[in-house]
Amino acid sequence: MTALRELTADEINTLAAIIAKTRPTGAPRWDPAGIRAAFAKVANLDAAEVIKATIRLAQDREARTPGGIANTANPCWSERLTDVEVYVKPDRCDVHGTQRSPLGICASCRADELAGTDTGPAGQRLPAEQVREIVGEIRDRIAKQPQ
Ligand SMILES: [Zn+2]
Repeated sequence: MTALRELTADEINTLAAIIAKTRPTGAPRWDPAGIRAAFAKVANLDAAEVIKATIRLAQDREARTPGGIANTANPCWSERLTDVEVYVKPDRCDVHGTQRSPLGICASCRADELAGTDTGPAGQRLPAEQVREIVGEIRDRIAKQPQ
């Protein structure tokens, strides 16, 4: 790890100038001196983490000042889910309330489908009614488990 304080004054000045220059169009401008002042308060932290938090805050057009850089409780210090991760995040089945697989499949719906079909070898199948009871019992047990 390289602490921010290990960067040279030139590197800090360049970084502050780049951050100030890359604020979103129409967002309040940041003074490089204000960015350097915020950096000074987190100088002992990992430079890469400070830079990532700084870029996240700098891209927030609502951020009026760079002051949030100095506050590690500020949301800019947290990684955000990418759009792709949000897209594939499993959702819940409307019928059963259970979490769907990443492919959008509900295990309970699939069990219901299988219970209603006669796909097994003759003589080894349970009656559909008995399969439904077993599936219901499993579903109840899953529903009682803490998430
Ligand atoms: Zn379902």
